[in-house]
Amino acid sequence: MQISVVVPCMNEAESIPHLVERLASSVKPYGDQAEILLVDDGSTDETWSAIQTAREFCAQLRGLRLSANRGHQVALTAGLEAAKGERIFMLDADLQDPPELLGDMMVMMDRGYDVVYGTRRKREGETVFKRVTAWAFYRVLNTMSDVDIPRDTGDFRLVSRKALTAVLSMPERARFVRGMFAWVGFRQIGIEYVRAPRESGETKYPLRKMVRFAIDAMTAFSTKPLKFATRMSFASLGFSGLMMIYVLHSLIVYQTAPGWASIVLVVSLFAGVQLMTLGILGEYIGRLYIEAKNRPLYFVSEDTCRAEVLPLQEMV
Ligand code: UDP
Ligand code: MG
Repeated sequence: MQISVVVPCMNEAESIPHLVERLASSVKPYGDQAEILLVDDGSTDETWSAIQTAREFCAQLRGLRLSANRGHQVALTAGLEAAKGERIFMLDADLQDPPELLGDMMVMMDRGYDVVYGTRRKREGETVFKRVTAWAFYRVLNTMSDVDIPRDTGDFRLVSRKALTAVLSMPERARFVRGMFAWVGFRQIGIEYVRAPRESGETKYPLRKMVRFAIDAMTAFSTKPLKFATRMSFASLGFSGLMMIYVLHSLIVYQTAPGWASIVLVVSLFAGVQLMTLGILGEYIGRLYIEAKNRPLYFVSEDTCRAEVLPLQEMV
């Protein structure tokens, strides 16, 4: 198998026919040396039957259905683990990332790169809010993380088997796929593209999921937030030292009872700093707990490939 295309899909029934059509024409040059893997991430709409219908028109298509919704990054991981190709192309189901870029990415890979990622030069049809938060996300992530993760770059990329094997050998539960590819190294290069608006349906990343994703991204690749907590505690110690001088001075010079304002100010400031520090610790401890449980990331409930093989095995 020369190339595998991996697409995580959650409630993307409307996008699938067009997605498969465009993917099929992008992988046409590779014939039966290409496979298209659609991972249904516990959809509650008709996504799975749309995948099955599309299989009637596209022989290279394989569907994988997860037993429940596990999130974009885990669904992507499931697809990557199932992929058989020498080169693996990943993209979103909503056609925001053009499948036609595969050709250009293949050319770059022929030149010896192991990871060719797509960098968004421009985003079309996305709200100002999404653009601003995404812009801030990639910048904050870069300052926070110890790994140099390319900016404005999602999971849209072509990777070699070598790079994929390296990423799949990483045992962590907290999957931040683009960060993991950045971490493994090898020769990497980005190509710029314009991110199109969503073809149909709406975003599966509401603010709540975006915040989760951002916290996951930062904690998975850095312990800088913990250092930030330490730095905050030094800052607050310094502040309380100054405060103490002020309080003693007022007591001696003016002989006043300590003021209400300063007490409230100090108490609320330190309560805030302490809670935040505890919160940061909690994020890491929670993650240690999840990692320690070492549960499987996902379960496959249906696999169109396996369904065909099973009757044969039963005959034996
Ligand atoms: N997705 C998924 N599981 C989820 C959320 C999203 O598999 O729990 C898929 C979704 O179907 C899409 C991709 O992840 O193919 C990216 O999601 P989306 O386009 O909604 O994100 P956005 O582009 O708005 O950031
Ligand atoms: Mg999208």
